[in-house]
Amino acid sequence: MSQHCYKRILVLSPHTDDGEIGAGGAIAKFISEGVEVYYVAFSSCEDSIPVGFSKDILKFECKEATRILGIKPENLILFDYEVRTFPEHRQEILDDMVKLNKRINPDLILIPSSNDTHQDHQVINREALRAFKKTSTIWGYEHPWNNLTFTTDVFLKLDDIHIMKKVNALEAYNSQDYRTYFDEYYIKALSYTRGSQVDFKYAETFELLRLLVL
Ligand SMILES: [Zn+2]
Repeated sequence: MSQHCYKRILVLSPHTDDGEIGAGGAIAKFISEGVEVYYVAFSSCEDSIPVGFSKDILKFECKEATRILGIKPENLILFDYEVRTFPEHRQEILDDMVKLNKRINPDLILIPSSNDTHQDHQVINREALRAFKKTSTIWGYEHPWNNLTFTTDVFLKLDDIHIMKKVNALEAYNSQDYRTYFDEYYIKALSYTRGSQVDFKYAETFELLRLLVL
């Protein structure tokens, strides 16, 4: 039985795949409970696609991955910022977020952790805090290989079905197959580890950055 009251959740993903990696289980669980989930990716990383794939492959893979998680096609928004240039586009990114807030009015947003070392992830974290701090509860999601440290404040209990949806969604990223964290064993092991902190079989954890209580 779920103990939250979120109706509209917005996932802010610097690059296609970051949101599924950090919160794929949560997305699957929230959707199974009837929550409206929106997913925004700010870049499809056309400048860092492995040889042999088309430059826009990540857009297609992201459409498929988010479909597997249950996100409606009309709730998927893809922007075209170039990978690793977000610090040069802070104001445009903030403007996009302010518009998203007006349009979607999310009660919860999921963003990269405050301790993420990737420059694009840092921009999404900082600008999202500016755009949403007065209107939404904010959780930071976990990318262990990018996080210098990570505070496990929020534990979201996940069932096998949510973990399998996350595994299947990440399998849609054929172009990223070589990365460890797309691997089923890795996804299950991390969720199992996080679950063990609170006696859940599986969990995803989040840093609590803002909590609005109605
Ligand atoms: Zn990323």
